[in-house]
Amino acid sequence: MGLHNAGEFVLDILYPRRCPVCHGPAPASLRICPECRRKLPLVPGKRCAKCGKPVHESEVLCDDCAKTKHVFTRGIGVYIYNDLMRESIVMMKYKGRREYGETLGMLAAEEAREYLAAFRPEAVIPIPLHRERLRKRTYNQAEAIAEPVAKYLGVPLHPDGLIRRASTGAMKELSAAERAKNIEKAVFANENLPVYRRVLLVDDIYTTGATMDAAAAVLKRHGIPEIYFLTVCIGGGYMVNY
Ligand SMILES: [Zn+2]
Ligand SMILES: [Zn+2]
Repeated sequence: MGLHNAGEFVLDILYPRRCPVCHGPAPASLRICPECRRKLPLVPGKRCAKCGKPVHESEVLCDDCAKTKHVFTRGIGVYIYNDLMRESIVMMKYKGRREYGETLGMLAAEEAREYLAAFRPEAVIPIPLHRERLRKRTYNQAEAIAEPVAKYLGVPLHPDGLIRRASTGAMKELSAAERAKNIEKAVFANENLPVYRRVLLVDDIYTTGATMDAAAAVLKRHGIPEIYFLTVCIGGGYMVNY
């Protein structure tokens, strides 16, 4: 977590950040209680070589990646989406706890350091939230998570690298393929986004990969050949009922 400068230290005392696990004030100069950090559910065993979902020791790919040809290159979701993570993410998205995104993004980057070293992204792009939802939520949680990730990597952050232009409607009733098509139609790359070789997409959770694939397809059309992702949580895999 590094040393804070004096200004940040004073701010920490005046406005202590809340811990994303117990929701109490985090100890000064820390963003999370040490004992709460130990409760964060890291994926315990082997991961899918493509999407990072938990797999059995004998498997290389998860069932989903064995069946689906993903557009993105590779990715990792750091924590299992259990009740604790669900509550933290709900508070972040709907209760204005932007600091949870910043804390979880920083922790996710630290935990995924070996993956990030292998991905070698030249820039970080958050998955965009469309404007209507942005108004309701006042901020894009993916951007809050992406900020410390870009800082950790020492690469540029492009909050507007991808733009979502219209409501994608109620997505719950759609199949993964329909959902992907829907997102792909609504998202476009900012014409000012440099044509990098490798970029890292950041979001709160990876589930089917439909969103990542749609964003990756858009970035590929923009000329970026390798698209990686980092998410705070990963859902699904064989541990569906954790
Ligand atoms: Zn705590
Ligand atoms: Zn997979």
